[in-house]
Amino acid sequence: MRKGVNHTDVKNTNRGIILQLIASGRDYSRAAIASKIHLSKMTVTNIVNELIEERYVCESQIEENTNIGRNPVQLDIAPDAPKVIGIYLSRDAVHCILTEITGKILYHQFTSLCEETANSLTQKIIKLIQDAASVTTDTILGIGVSSIGPLDAEKGVILKPTNFFHISDYSIKAILEDCFQMPVFVNNDMNASALAEKLFGMCMDTKNFVYLGISNGIGSGIISDGKLFQNKSGFVGEIGHMGIYYDGALCSCGRRGCLEAYINMPVILEKLRLASNNPALTCSDFVTVAKQESCHAVFQDMAEKLSYAIINACNMMDPQIIILGHEGYYLPDSYIEYIQQEVNAKILAASHKYISIRKSSFAMKTPIIGSACCLLNEFFAGNFFTSNHPKSSR
Ligand SMILES: [Zn+2]
Repeated sequence: MRKGVNHTDVKNTNRGIILQLIASGRDYSRAAIASKIHLSKMTVTNIVNELIEERYVCESQIEENTNIGRNPVQLDIAPDAPKVIGIYLSRDAVHCILTEITGKILYHQFTSLCEETANSLTQKIIKLIQDAASVTTDTILGIGVSSIGPLDAEKGVILKPTNFFHISDYSIKAILEDCFQMPVFVNNDMNASALAEKLFGMCMDTKNFVYLGISNGIGSGIISDGKLFQNKSGFVGEIGHMGIYYDGALCSCGRRGCLEAYINMPVILEKLRLASNNPALTCSDFVTVAKQESCHAVFQDMAEKLSYAIINACNMMDPQIIILGHEGYYLPDSYIEYIQQEVNAKILAASHKYISIRKSSFAMKTPIIGSACCLLNEFFAGNFFTSNHPKSSR
């Protein structure tokens, strides 16, 4: 059954939509917002005036133009608007950021993980959040968490990640809400990265796209019709376990022939280290070693297998853009062009459309910025609103 909508929901939704536009940094005036979202100028003006009163929004400098009269007043996020804390939990470190509502990072700290228990992990996360909160006197909207999966995003529980100190069923949402008494929203790092691209990256105007992250495994975050495509199980977008050989190599999931069994990043690094005779080779050496014939073969094989899986994914999901991220960001441009050509020659819709294959907007920072986006996506959707009291009443 669909839920009814009350007056507060409508108001929060409109506030969220307007704040998202202003936070996108694309110089919106009240009139431009009204035109973009099909609300009356009066409604937009009333909401914007409230947001100015709440110090979420400020008017940027008015430029006089004597020829055409006064330019419309552009709106910005106010300098003392509420801030957001983001936690990115990877297998070997916890990153913590403090950001503007615009996604701009004001502070970034991280701590390494080694032989952790659930309790020691909690202590590290809490310390990072306390340190980040101490650098601002502004209101904090809440905490967004981007984490390795699988996880239950609705309950905010990290289920049972592989190679993660045997920590399982870790209720990070409940732990942080209890400790900090503010909203906490959790998602896996692929979905969080897709949200970063949607809110502040190259896909602000793209309704259908896939963020495909290549790391220890291969996963994806899918934006369909402008919204994150997910369900409660936490197992959506597992492109790494798409079969590319009916009877191929054994995968960590127990099946044979999964994409991930061939081209996860540790496997690629191992092959390249052998091919280049450089045991210390890292992802940042990719562009240099791609010029060597022996390494070219490794990259070419990777690009062919990746293309095959992406074509399958495109035929299923019909995206406009595929974004390669996590360590996939380091794949040399010539192979990304090869994948783009292969995909566009072989997808079912080849004669109707062209799919761009791009590298993520924020390089290795995408899942980190994505942490704050897990919170901001809910805020912009109007799912909660936090009052930012006028300074005089503080
Ligand atoms: Zn598998």
